Amino acid sequence: MKELDVVRLTEEFKGLPVGTEGTIVLEYDGTCFEVEFFDDEGDTIDVLMTPANVLRLCWEYVPMSDKVICEKCGAEMEPIDKNTPVGMTCPECGWGWATTYIDPLLEDSETYEVVLAAGNKQSEDVIAAVADIAGCNFLRARQLVAEAPVTVFSGDAPSVKDAAEKLESAAADYEIKPDFPHEIRRLK
Ligand SMILES: [Zn+2]
Repeated sequence: MKELDVVRLTEEFKGLPVGTEGTIVLEYDGTCFEVEFFDDEGDTIDVLMTPANVLRLCWEYVPMSDKVICEKCGAEMEPIDKNTPVGMTCPECGWGWATTYIDPLLEDSETYEVVLAAGNKQSEDVIAAVADIAGCNFLRARQLVAEAPVTVFSGDAPSVKDAAEKLESAAADYEIKPDFPHEIRRLK
């Protein structure tokens, strides 16, 4: 992530809910960014010093070369959207292009549940992963493993992918409801 990239919160941060979007206005040392958060209308909510580990890249800022000239009429082209690099359009003749690829993970508006399966080992890896994604302490995580099958997390596709990857990495058995159409990798 870098300056002018659009990011979103992967967890609640200083009272702002998960999924709040913002633009990186200043990069400190790669672990921390000053982020201008905005609401659905695009109005600024707050500017906060934000650790990188609660942010996910939404839109990568691609610097435009100084001027883009229309191939058809020679007029200077304009970005379709000044905040996100979705393409260019000609104000004179309307010629232009738009990027068509949008990460399906970000487009997915479904809410998913991560259900820990019965019969998981009470191993440190499993308990640590459950505590992490359920946001609880180890004692409670141990109970959840014992009570399984139990929902340990629910949320949007990107945060469910994160949660599932933590369980994968701990070699825990789980299920996602409804069926999760995105790739889940085992970290490390
Ligand atoms: Zn043109």
